[in-house]
Amino acid sequence: MSYLFDFMVAERMLGVGESPTVRLSGLVSELRAKGEDVISLGVGEPDFPTPSHIVEAAKQALDEGFTKYTPSKGIPELREAIAEKSRAENGIPCGPEDVIVIPTKHALFASVLAFAGPSDEVLLPDPGWVSYLPMVRLASAKPVPVPCEGEFQMTPEATAELITPASRMIIVNSPNNPTGSVYDPEALRGLADLAEDHNLVIVTDEIYEKIVFNGEHHSIAAFPGAFDNTITVHGFSKTYSMTGWRLGWAVAPRDLLGSINKIQQHSTTCATSFAQKGGVAALTGPKGPVEKMVQEFEKRREIVAQGVAEIPAFTFKKPRGTFYAWIRYDDPRSSLDFAETLLKEAKVAVTPGIAFGDKGENHFRLSFAASRENIQEAFKRVAEVLA
Ligand code: PMP
Repeated sequence: MSYLFDFMVAERMLGVGESPTVRLSGLVSELRAKGEDVISLGVGEPDFPTPSHIVEAAKQALDEGFTKYTPSKGIPELREAIAEKSRAENGIPCGPEDVIVIPTKHALFASVLAFAGPSDEVLLPDPGWVSYLPMVRLASAKPVPVPCEGEFQMTPEATAELITPASRMIIVNSPNNPTGSVYDPEALRGLADLAEDHNLVIVTDEIYEKIVFNGEHHSIAAFPGAFDNTITVHGFSKTYSMTGWRLGWAVAPRDLLGSINKIQQHSTTCATSFAQKGGVAALTGPKGPVEKMVQEFEKRREIVAQGVAEIPAFTFKKPRGTFYAWIRYDDPRSSLDFAETLLKEAKVAVTPGIAFGDKGENHFRLSFAASRENIQEAFKRVAEVLA
């Protein structure tokens, strides 16, 4: 009967596939249910519990009956905490009126939906996070992948070459998923200038901001004048190990934010009430758990580097941030076939490079949000299969 559904589906769905990373985690669960000993290095989810002071704050909110709708832009104390953090840590000239509390993925989708439509072009990184391109297609706009080579940054030069009168938006992601690059301030400044010259909206996804090992994170919206046309998207999932809480935020001048808020009001109404109380505890509470988590990721990055060095077919550029390694393999197989071989023969799940764009062929993404033992064992198994 599937032909019937193909016929019924809205045109904007054509060319949009399932999320490869969400699909992969489903596949791993299925294999594990059959008793297979699969090591998953596929999914971007910290393997730490949410810090207890955050959990306690949400529990207390539940006990106190904080279980109803909140204002669509979020509870005032969380918006104040986000504005304070954005000013103090990121140098973004914002106030609580410029903040909306919204799950990160939804913030990105709402931004695209609000500012790009049919015949509009959206520039995005290639390789880039799996959902940018489908989000643009779901908004009936045209994705324009910008090749990111060398340091895996969207350079102002490569981006400028692809700007046309139809360009409406640039999506920037630093620290970057899947390559682990952390953009240089000059590149960000250049992108901000391009956006100003061509009247583009910048959507900057800074969800990995705290997971940086070398270099420093910079927010585009902090460059003079850049705030006016920039939507800074961020969230709790990675920094505080809160993926299931579905909590994030966007900071933008209130005029831009108004359109995102309309989408929130007509889709989800608001973010989950008691989760928002957890968000306040995350931003205002002790920073120790985050520091410990980042130190552990850095140690695991070394284990990955050692594993890569021991397999002749593999090369990679050590990630400066995130918990991903973007590994190039020297083999004629497509990235889908290669990842399938690793899953079936080594029982190691990684994400095929093609999931991140055309520039992803001959690569796979390995998430080191997994225990040191599992990372070591995974490399051992892969080395045996490729020997
Ligand atoms: N942006 C990037 C670059 C991501 O890697 C992810 C999560 N994998 C998200 C956004 C979405 O975050 P969340 O799950 O908190 O909505």
